[in-house]
Amino acid sequence: MKLMEYQGKDLFRRVGIPTPNGVFATTADDVKAFIREHPGSWVLKSQVMMGGRGKAGGIKFADDAQQGETLARELIGKVLKSVQNPDGEEVKSLLVEEKVDIASEAYVSIAIDRTAKQPVVLVTAQGGMDVEEVAEHDPDAIKKYWIDPARGYSPFIGRRLAFDAKLPEGFRKAFPAVLGALYTLFMDYGANLVEINPLVLTKDGRVIASDAKVDLDDNGLYKHPDVAAWNSESPADEDQAAAVAIGLGMSNYAKLDGTIGVIANGAGLGMGTMDAIRNAGGEAANFLDIGGGAQADLVKKSYDLVTSDPKVKAMFINIFGGITRGDQVARGIVEALKGGDVREVPLVVRLTGTNAEEGRRILDEAGFVPVETMDEGAARAVALAAGSK
Ligand code: GDP
Ligand code: MN
Repeated sequence: MKLMEYQGKDLFRRVGIPTPNGVFATTADDVKAFIREHPGSWVLKSQVMMGGRGKAGGIKFADDAQQGETLARELIGKVLKSVQNPDGEEVKSLLVEEKVDIASEAYVSIAIDRTAKQPVVLVTAQGGMDVEEVAEHDPDAIKKYWIDPARGYSPFIGRRLAFDAKLPEGFRKAFPAVLGALYTLFMDYGANLVEINPLVLTKDGRVIASDAKVDLDDNGLYKHPDVAAWNSESPADEDQAAAVAIGLGMSNYAKLDGTIGVIANGAGLGMGTMDAIRNAGGEAANFLDIGGGAQADLVKKSYDLVTSDPKVKAMFINIFGGITRGDQVARGIVEALKGGDVREVPLVVRLTGTNAEEGRRILDEAGFVPVETMDEGAARAVALAAGSK
């Protein structure tokens, strides 16, 4: 789960990384009112997922409320484009922050080095620009340190990196604590990446995280439900929004081009089901991972979501039971889909696991098509889709 800058900075503040004072705003009127109450120089920063906002025209400076309002009107609704993101991304909100006088810009990040199986810290005194650019033109300017998670972080790591990367003197005192806090954030929130670019040294001697890039591992989100809930605030597209709206994870549903609706429990089984459908000569209309348990309520909502796509001509529900009892799952499906206000399409269900036979009997009685194997289910679904209008 990638976070926007304002969300990343929220996490920064939780662990004690200094950030500029500011406020999150979604309308030009809010920006105007805020600056009127807090006279001074402010930066308006477009909140989008893409990087390189500076170059794309997404960062503006305002010295009074009127100018703030005008610039906010220009930014909100604007589609920012970059080389990485040629389609662009619409600006829906802004972060209004105190404009600081910059003496120097550094770069610091922590990511997982999968080869070393350890977090690796990257530091360079050439902050503000893309680190890839620095890596290309002046690779020696980037200093790395692999942190042994068993030993954890010690301030000497920060002192050594600041020295080796030749960070200006003004950074040296604050840097070990900033890096320590960044490491705490990285570990506690299960991040794939945390990046501060630029970490700014101000002319009045403060060290502040001027930007925040945070990418969290979805598998660790359960540890921080409040952060997981941010998902629903920043769905990147309609499918993600639809998934979140019915209580699924943001990446658990994606619409595709075929005619056969798919509901499976587990991402791997979902993809396997799509392959089986293709092998049987059909195409999946979607990917949907319903997660563990397959509760009746969620089955109904998932079914409604998938069949809301008019392309869907048949549905294949593929539930790998394990310790989930097949008869319970079957009853749940029947209860959810029989006689209610559902769009009726031919429904093939594969159930495995405890009491699967009993489950198939229940489905059969209800008029659904129970099958034993994935390939059999895919073949039935493809045939039914071809036969139905
Ligand atoms: P990005 O382009 O999406 O990475 O957005 P950043 O937050 O990194 O901002 C881009 C650039 O805008 C920074 O590298 C700074 O040069 C400039 N900038 C951002 N905030 C301030 C500020 O408070 N004062 C000054 N002088 N420049 C700023
Ligand atoms: Mn940046």
